[in-house]
Amino acid sequence: MFNSNDVLIALQGALNTSQLYMVYQPILNLHTQKICGFEALMRWNSPDMGMISPDIFITLLEKSGSIASVEEMVSNPPWDVAVRWPENISLSINFSALELSDPQLPERVSRNLATSGLSASRCEIEVTETAPIRDSLVASKNMSALKAMGVKLSLDDFGTGHANLDYLLKYPFDTLKIDKAFVAEIEPDTKSAKIVEGIIVLAHDFGIDVLAEGVESKEQLDRLIRIGCDKAQGYYISHPVPAENIPALLTQFNY
Ligand code: C2E
Ligand code: MG
Ligand code: MG
Ligand code: MG
Repeated sequence: MFNSNDVLIALQGALNTSQLYMVYQPILNLHTQKICGFEALMRWNSPDMGMISPDIFITLLEKSGSIASVEEMVSNPPWDVAVRWPENISLSINFSALELSDPQLPERVSRNLATSGLSASRCEIEVTETAPIRDSLVASKNMSALKAMGVKLSLDDFGTGHANLDYLLKYPFDTLKIDKAFVAEIEPDTKSAKIVEGIIVLAHDFGIDVLAEGVESKEQLDRLIRIGCDKAQGYYISHPVPAENIPALLTQFNY
């Protein structure tokens, strides 16, 4: 077994190498049945330890305070990749709640957009609830600043972790991503199905779109369409893929 410190040292060594890279999972618009965007997900393929899950190494990076610098140094920055996609395809990027409390965040996003040439309206920022939002005043300011730039905001993993209904009142989210734990249980008729239906009605009342994460079967997808869910992601649609496979996926879904 490796301890956290060994892993962090190995991670520092992986910076600026092809060990750390992004893969992209398509987001399907359930109203049009077309791909409307891709979520960038980080991968670390360590020569010593093999593929390490972001759930492990992102948490370590957060704790050590080096998450922002790693995201800047992946070998294929998502901003540069997304600028080559068709205009109507957006890019979703994950930021931890910790990063959201960093006063430098809007400047960092704005610099990445300017350098890559990607327009802010094609960029969605997903706030992941791996930690409670540390400094909610800075977080609020950051969200307002990002919105003012034209960037969209999504609340990730809704229904689990630290995210709660309070967030919908406090922060200007455009999209709510229902955690895969609920999606896994929406077929057949269950309490989870009722919860998801209720969340969709509530979100729509607030003018917020709903995306279902972790869709793994046709039955789940069909039910989500029936209950008015706006978007979906999951292995049933496509696993995350390397950037070079995106044109083929777009040809397949969006012809
Ligand atoms: P997330 O943002 O909620 O991403 C969804 C996770 O579910 C991804 O795991 C994805 O590969 C996985 N997934 C997608 N479809 C399915 C499905 O049908 N079934 C199942 N069981 N899983 C599915 P992944 O890539 O391991 O990422 C885990 C988490 O790590 C992400 O959760 C996100 O919170 C975090 N993460 C990943 N990349 C980054 C990054 O660049 N920066 C930050 N801050 N966090 C990241
Ligand atoms: Mg996400
Ligand atoms: Mg999620
Ligand atoms: Mg997550």
